[in-house]
Amino acid sequence: MPVPLAPYPTPPAPLAPPNGGQSQLVCSGCRNLLLYPQGAKSVCCAVCRAVTTVPPPGTEMAQLICGGCHTLLMYIRGASSVQCSCCHTVNLALEANQVAHVNCGNCQMLLMYQYGARSVKCAVCNFVTSIGASPSTEQKA
Ligand SMILES: [Zn+2]
Ligand SMILES: [Zn+2]
Ligand SMILES: [Zn+2]
Repeated sequence: MPVPLAPYPTPPAPLAPPNGGQSQLVCSGCRNLLLYPQGAKSVCCAVCRAVTTVPPPGTEMAQLICGGCHTLLMYIRGASSVQCSCCHTVNLALEANQVAHVNCGNCQMLLMYQYGARSVKCAVCNFVTSIGASPSTEQKA
């Protein structure tokens, strides 16, 4: 009687969907970037054990640079102030402190700059990209 060939056991489907299903947030304790599966309500940091609450889906996060220690802070857009967990400086969430993004005019690299900057120099190709460049600012004699 022939022995039926046993098929290889199917590996159990991974619980976490590959990529795509992961989100990022900054640990409220140590500012490490944490990855968490989408749908999680809170994330426990493996480094400092702080539990960071996950903002509800659809919450728009904004970023600003701490005026005290220049750490990049994340906050929920619309908040009026953000306290830095590193140096405890309370930063007013004004446009002036916010970080904006622009693509390098030469290599298309995504660059970050502080609102109000006139130009950003690309760290990759050293091309200087003007912010909000409007030809009308050119003075005509
Ligand atoms: Zn942490
Ligand atoms: Zn700070
Ligand atoms: Zn560039």
